Amino acid sequence: MMSYPDTLLFIDGQWQAASDGRTLDVLNPATAQVIGTVAHAGQPELAQALAAARRGFAVWSATPAFQRYQIMRRAAVLLRERAEEAATCMSLEQGKPVAEAHAEMAAAADIIDWMAEEGRRAYGRLVPARLMGVTQSVIRTPVGPVAAFCPWNFPVNQVVRKVSAALATGCSIIVKAPEETPASPAMLIRAFADAGVPPGVIGLVYGTPAEISETLIADDIIRKVTFTGSTAVGKILASLAGTHMKRVTMELGGHGPVIITADADITRAVSLLAAAKIRNAGQVCVSPTRFLIEKGVFEAFRSAYVARMQALVVGNGQRSGTQMGPVVSQRRLEAIEALVNEARDSGAKVETGGTRLAGPGYFYAPTVLTGLTADMRIMNEEPFGPISLLCPFDTLEDAIAEANRLPYGLAAYAFTGSGAVAARLRDTVRTGMLTINHIGLSLPEIPFGGIGDSGYGSEGGSEALDAYLDTRLVTSMDYM
Ligand code: NAD
Repeated sequence: MMSYPDTLLFIDGQWQAASDGRTLDVLNPATAQVIGTVAHAGQPELAQALAAARRGFAVWSATPAFQRYQIMRRAAVLLRERAEEAATCMSLEQGKPVAEAHAEMAAAADIIDWMAEEGRRAYGRLVPARLMGVTQSVIRTPVGPVAAFCPWNFPVNQVVRKVSAALATGCSIIVKAPEETPASPAMLIRAFADAGVPPGVIGLVYGTPAEISETLIADDIIRKVTFTGSTAVGKILASLAGTHMKRVTMELGGHGPVIITADADITRAVSLLAAAKIRNAGQVCVSPTRFLIEKGVFEAFRSAYVARMQALVVGNGQRSGTQMGPVVSQRRLEAIEALVNEARDSGAKVETGGTRLAGPGYFYAPTVLTGLTADMRIMNEEPFGPISLLCPFDTLEDAIAEANRLPYGLAAYAFTGSGAVAARLRDTVRTGMLTINHIGLSLPEIPFGGIGDSGYGSEGGSEALDAYLDTRLVTSMDYM
């Protein structure tokens, strides 16, 4: 097995330790053992990173779009060459099966390619004027240095979406990557640096999240804030950004409703949804969570889905054949356990799972609950773990009302044999993303983002670049 590297900060083109030598331990969630350390930035490093980002922005925003594109494409090539090593690291620090980590690396390289291409097409436009001789030009310019805060569930994917959009548009960026999973995002940043991104254009820091966000967001140098994580933290960062009048993208939590009607292909629904649920042990913002199943097929779905969950191979992500790894930390394990225990105590039935699994790591059994009521905490708070909540419904109206009951609005799923029902759901389910009769989210070329308490802004499609661009007007009377 490869050794896991200690991770340094990347500031002004240099890999460096914290000036006071401070580090944090990194654990393997499959064993609860310390596997390495990550440097902990303090105020001196943050000041250095800010100054570098200002210089980096001056250089990068003046670099022609075609040259930025070439450098980014080179980074994608390097990332593909290094995918094996990075995927192994990611699995060690995050717990996910190596195959999932590989898929994440492949997706990351695709995202870089897509954003690089889109950067060449971030056009402005000419608006016909009301007077002869007047030219009205709408121009789009990079917003400025960006502060990005990224979580541990997709250590590379969450960073690459932000870095690629920033770079494609000519912005510099300081990334606060996850302290729990530091090595794989550092490998991503190394690929950009080795591809020729100039010093200061990308900074990488780790440390105390609140200290870093309060310092970076309040600083005049930073012009945009982007965050992926919980709604609770998102609201804190969005208000801080508002106080300082910074542009914001927020990619927050959800509580994915799934509507399954009686005429759906149940076998296909079970198979696709079970795979989507256990991906990353359910620690996915778009994970399917509240399964709303039409009464007539509830029992057929329940029994097939439970059987699927019981057949899963749960274990160390490094072992071949593992289908689901541990959750990321003791904290998550306890949070999931508390939600399930509370639901059980209030009368929910545990169809399968409902317990930690033996072993030193942070393993929780794939769990299916029935007999749920809307007042249970688990029906209102994101479980962010391998938990499926199965609820029967009588009418489509009831299912739509339940899907829309929560303030979240990230991803929703539906399986139905009826085109009319599909169209109805498209018009009435209030989420940023809805995928019907297949699992089709999270590709670079399509929007990715939520509405309501799930945040605002998009991290996919051409919309992803909009968030990093200022729109400016120049109107000029060229002749009379
Ligand atoms: P958490 O709310 O403590 O942290 C979520 C993320 O925010 C972490 O990466 C953390 O480092 C960061 N963070 C926390 N406080 C911060 C601050 N003041 N400034 C900047 N960053 C800060 O929750 P957790 O236990 O680590 O994760 C579980 C919850 O987070 C889940 O319930 C889920 O809603 C959410 N989450 C969402 C996503 C997503 O993809 N949308 C990813 C990871 C976590």
